[in-house]
Amino acid sequence: LEVNLVPMQSVDDDWLGLVIVLHDITAFRRLERVRSEFVANVSHELKTPVAAVKGFAETLLAGAMNDADTAKSFLQIIYDESERLNRLIGDILELSKIESKRAQLQFSPVHLHSFVGKTLDMMRPAADPKQIGLEMKVDEDIYMEADEDRLRQIMINLLSNGINYTPDGGKVKVSVETVEADAEDEAEKIRIVISDTGIGIPKKDLPRIFERFYRVDKARSRSSGGTGLGLSIVKHLVELHKGTIRVESELGLGSRFILELPVIQQ
Ligand code: ADP
Repeated sequence: LEVNLVPMQSVDDDWLGLVIVLHDITAFRRLERVRSEFVANVSHELKTPVAAVKGFAETLLAGAMNDADTAKSFLQIIYDESERLNRLIGDILELSKIESKRAQLQFSPVHLHSFVGKTLDMMRPAADPKQIGLEMKVDEDIYMEADEDRLRQIMINLLSNGINYTPDGGKVKVSVETVEADAEDEAEKIRIVISDTGIGIPKKDLPRIFERFYRVDKARSRSSGGTGLGLSIVKHLVELHKGTIRVESELGLGSRFILELPVIQQ
């Protein structure tokens, strides 16, 4: 609340009274704060890999280049950090496109059995080195209306997290089922569950993991190449499909991300 006090005086300086103006600026201030926090976060996130690239390049130039092994490991770091920067910029652009509603969705019928199968095939290069089993349970005859590229992005982000946050030898599974229309919620829906046997998420962090740049363990997210934006992009894309997403997790046992999307986009 912003309060302005304006004393009222007559022409001969007589005291007439006080005008009190109250402005409710809560919503405005909150928006401002969210925006400036985002800019601060983005700058910080961008500066970190740039600083690493610069630092290691400087050290190479200052002489580290003469030792082949050192040079190779420094160049690998420079390469990895440039990749992170690339992903970060891509995610930031994607997010700002979605948030400014410039993202026009192209809906078409998606056959979920082949869609999930193909998406899991794309994830094998990430899962195989960790011997993580990818499984699916999708009936042959389920279709839904979706923007296929965006739906793929949703699945890839959730599956990459499943793989990243699951120790070697674990399992990541996608199951799809139809939820019949009921009286309260009359439209028929598709429920997609992406579950893993991974490290899980502490109860206190669950409400916050869909926020931009929120990570339970910054170091782990970094070392697995995370940008901290994956789930906020997922949430936005799900909402653009008029769907919902929620998460259930048990520390040390695994996590389940539950998506519910309308079969038909009206
Ligand atoms: P990141 O790029 O860090 O993975 P996300 O937005 O995709 O960012 O996820 C936010 C945070 O939520 C992650 O840093 C991680 O701590 C947690 N998280 C997301 N998915 C999982 C999962 N399947 N298992 C355990 N933790 C997860």
